[in-house]
Formats: sequence, C-alpha cells, structure tokens
Amino acid sequence: MSEDGIFARIIRGELDADVLHQDDYVTAFRDVAPQAPVHVLIVPNEAIPSVAHVEGRHEPVLGRMISVARRIAEAEGIAEDGYRLIVNTGRDAGQEVDHLHVHLIGGRPLGPMLAHPDGGTDPA
Ligand code: AMP
Repeated sequence: MSEDGIFARIIRGELDADVLHQDDYVTAFRDVAPQAPVHVLIVPNEAIPSVAHVEGRHEPVLGRMISVARRIAEAEGIAEDGYRLIVNTGRDAGQEVDHLHVHLIGGRPLGPMLAHPDGGTDPA
C-alpha cells in the first residue's frame, strides 16, 4: 500500500473531500459516488491495505472505526432507522481502493444483504 493512494492523500488534506471527522486514528469522509442518501467512508490514518493485512496491533484503530461509524450514523440522523457497515476485502468482494475502509450506508431501506451476481441464490 503506497502512502500516495487516494485515501492517504485525503487524510493528509492534499485531495478534496467532504471530511466529517478526523482524529489520531481515523478519518471519515463522504463517498464521492454515494449508493444511498448517507454514504460515508471511515478509514484508518495508517494505510492498512485491507482486512487481510490486519495485525493485532491494529485492534485499537479497528475499534475506533466502528465507534466513529456509530457516532456519524447518529449525527446523520440514521441511527434510529438503521444502517449497514460494509468492508469489502479483495477481488471477489470488489474492493477497489487498497486502503482499508468501512462503508457506512443508510438513509433508505437497503434491501437484501447481498445481490447474487446472476440473481439467484447459492445452494443451501
Ligand atoms: P471499495 O469498492 O470497497 O474499495 O470502495 C471504494 C469506494 O471509494 C467507492 O465507493 C468509491 O466511490 C470511493 N471513492 C473513490 N475515490 C474517492 C474519493 N476521491 N473520495 C471519496 N470516495 C472515493
């Protein structure tokens, strides 16, 4: 993971973004291509590429990511109706940006948890 990735540059204030929160561990900003009325990305300031690269020493930052997601959900007024947190990891999940991030998505009913690529379901 390069320190010159898109999210690293947003964290450093070098690239424009609608930043909602920043602290010693994490930065949160609105997704540039929102999938719902509220779509915020919560990212560690350290450029961890994905969940697959998480180590024990990252546990404090991972906890902070979730608690910041909760606080932003409340501030955005979606806590009562509910929301979804998504962490895409690797190719099958469609991870596009190799800097760990939690998607906080809400503001409308979000439908089924997963859309099957061919519209079907997997065998039980
Ligand atoms: P993922 O597919 O889980 O890696 O998600 C990457 C997300 O980053 C997508 O939802 C993009 O819309 C979002 N994204 C990419 N570039 C930017 C940017 N410059 N500012 C805000 N969000 C971005």
